[in-house]
Amino acid sequence: MTDLNKGGDSPIQFKGKTPPQFFQALKELKQEKKDSDVTVGKDPYADLKEAEVPEAAQAAPPPAAPVKKSQQYVPKAPHQTKARVTGSNQLEELIADLVERGVAYDEITLPSKGVFYDGTDGPTNGVLHIRSMTGEEEQILSTPRYVKKGTAINMIFQRCIKETIKADALLTGDRTYLLIWLRGISYGHEYEVEIKCPECDKKFSHSINLSELLVNYCPADFEPPLTDVLPKSGYKFTWQLPRGMDENKVQDYRDRRLKEYGDAATDDSLLYRMSLMLIEIEGVKDKTELMFLLKKLPIQDVSYLRSMALDPPFGVDTKCQITCASCYHDFEVDLPLEAGFFFPRHKRKKEETPSNSGNT
Ligand SMILES: [Zn+2]
Repeated sequence: MTDLNKGGDSPIQFKGKTPPQFFQALKELKQEKKDSDVTVGKDPYADLKEAEVPEAAQAAPPPAAPVKKSQQYVPKAPHQTKARVTGSNQLEELIADLVERGVAYDEITLPSKGVFYDGTDGPTNGVLHIRSMTGEEEQILSTPRYVKKGTAINMIFQRCIKETIKADALLTGDRTYLLIWLRGISYGHEYEVEIKCPECDKKFSHSINLSELLVNYCPADFEPPLTDVLPKSGYKFTWQLPRGMDENKVQDYRDRRLKEYGDAATDDSLLYRMSLMLIEIEGVKDKTELMFLLKKLPIQDVSYLRSMALDPPFGVDTKCQITCASCYHDFEVDLPLEAGFFFPRHKRKKEETPSNSGNT
């Protein structure tokens, strides 16, 4: 419950999969930022804050000590800009206006409806207030050391959500919902992705409307403790839904295996993921013992647990129906997490700026 700062390379914990393109894009973005330093004038907020972001970000760490119940979910003060405004009147007005607009929070209800939270880890009614990202948050996403430690997205959540939360204690399903919401209010709902048709192998770009993704909310009879029986062995087990910190542990585990065994490593991270999901099988609680037991279970039992791990009972339905632009083949993809998810290129208009001829 405390490995907040450990984590994988990804700023985004997204069902445990992070395509390599994302890291490539982070590199590219860094480059772009250098290129565009002179011409970013259209976004004075981002420009002004750039130098201060790391410090400001560190000043808002997740609460480490347990907090009294009565202190939970006290709305934070509106996001304060730490810019020392000593510029012109126009600049002061611009900043004041931006700060004012930054206080506009949307009220959202998490897919879990808060059923799995006790007030210290998330809101018991599932309601949070969230604002869109600013240049400061984008700067966090492009700061390698935050990305490296896997803390970037937790920092973004903690900054953009009004209530005091422990971002990595939120359920994975709720985090995915928050990510998609944050993307939508910050950059718009249109998400351009590159898709490869499984039938004809042709690549084409496709636009996904994030606001059209279906959200399934927690069913009324679904609440902790979650108990079930394995279909083949008949063993009783108790389980829990994955949280942000579990995604980090899975990423750590995968990295460790790769470091130790290199390409020869068999990817048993799904097994590890399942062991994290299990609280106990017939009294066996130790994670190493659970891993061992999972390897010995009949295949029907393992696939039963696997489908529980991969198909959460609620959350955003990230399956997208696609029709190939070339051969009209219909197929389904899981919402691809590509570079453009947080850095959509079509929003970067600087390509059109004559003074910036270096880009295509
Ligand atoms: Zn095709």
